[in-house]
Order: sequence, then C-alpha cells, then structure tokens
Amino acid sequence: MKIDVISLFPKMFESPFAEGMIKRALDKKIIELECHDMRKWAWNSYGAVDDRPYGGGVGMLIRVDVIDQALKEIKKNKNSKVILTSAKGKKFTQQMAREWSKEDNLIFICGRYEGFDERVVDLVDEEVSIGEYVLTGGELPTMVMIDSVTRLLDGVLGKDESNKDESFSENSVLEYPQYTRPAEYLGKNVPEILLSGDPKKIKQWQEAKKELK
Ligand code: SAM
Repeated sequence: MKIDVISLFPKMFESPFAEGMIKRALDKKIIELECHDMRKWAWNSYGAVDDRPYGGGVGMLIRVDVIDQALKEIKKNKNSKVILTSAKGKKFTQQMAREWSKEDNLIFICGRYEGFDERVVDLVDEEVSIGEYVLTGGELPTMVMIDSVTRLLDGVLGKDESNKDESFSENSVLEYPQYTRPAEYLGKNVPEILLSGDPKKIKQWQEAKKELK
C-alpha cells in the first residue's frame, strides 16, 4: 500500500514510524510512506498555504487551490482514497481501518491553523475525526489512522501478535480479559478456569467475558 501525507510538518512522521510495527511494515515494503511538505504548493513565494477567512473571524484557513494542486500532483493516475483530517469529521473506527486496509493508496491531508476552506471537503473522499476534541494539527490523527490500518495488512504482525479476536475485530465487541504470570499477585488471582488446561471451557469463558461496547 502506498500512503501519502500532505503536511506542514512532514518531519513529525520520522520518529514515530522509525520503530516497531510500522518500521517493520516499511522495511518489508508492505507500506511505502511519502510525506509531502504542503509548502511545495504554496500560493506565494513566501511559502504561504493559508489566508484570512472571508467574513472575518480569528485565525487562518488553508486554501483550496493549495490542496487541489497537491492532490492533482500526488494522485496522478493512482486509484486513491483521500482523507481529510478534521475535528468535525466522521468518527474513525476499526471498521473504517478494515475497509481502508484494502485500498492501494491512501492520501491523508493534515490541517493546521483554523483548518481548511470548506471547499476542500469536495476534493476528498472522507472527512475524518479521531475523537471529540481539538488538536493543533492533523499529524497525530494521521499517525493514529496509519498505525491502525497498517497493523491489519498481511505480514505486518509477527507470530506472537494477532488482529483476530481483539477488541473491535467483531464490530462493537471488546476483547475478553487476559492474564499472564504470576498466577497470584498481591492477593489477586488469575481466574481458575484459565489454569484448568481445558481448552473448551476456556474458550466458553473467553466468549462469555467479551463485552459489548
Ligand atoms: N477550527 C477547527 C474546528 O473548530 O473544528 C479546528 C482546527 S484544528 C486547530 C487544526 C487541524 O487539526 C484541523 O484542520 C485538523 O486537520 C486537525 N484536527 C484537530 N482535531 C482533530 C481531530 N479530533 N481529529 C482529526 N483531526 C483533527
């Protein structure tokens, strides 16, 4: 999968993806990540991508012509899904991560300032929020979404990890509680059934302990 990111701070993506699962996916070429500096498509020679809002108001908005030019250049003939990060967008879910994991190319657009000229919404496939709070930029939401999509791709998780039978692998179902050694810690014991060695009973217990969100 090719992942493109359009951001005013492309270097922010270097460190979080230099370790762990995403690094593994990059090294194995399961994903290819390209972070584009939005200023490449600046509307003036000073590198500005933003402008004052019509009708007044505080803050600046990222211009539609900047994003249009960026998308035209990045998409070319690719079959892409374009995602706009936005606090007022549709809430990101595991189901969306599953659907996006089947795409050939995801393009994430990271906002800053007060966000985007509303006409940017017409240029994208989805306007997505990672939760009901406002962050300073779309970079962290983009990292969250890339992480959750990447771990669903074949070959990314190692043999000791699994995306089956975990929270949201079935819609709205949360994972059952799990324990490891020691069997007793500060007076709290691992449920007896898990030490029984009876796979059928353990499975039944795990199914019963799954919770609905
Ligand atoms: N004025 C906007 C509003 O009230 O909805 C907030 C803009 S925010 C300061 C700047 C950028 O951060 C947004 O354009 C978006 O890209 C990103 N952002 C902030 N919170 C987000 C969230 N919860 N989910 C996704 N992106 C977010």
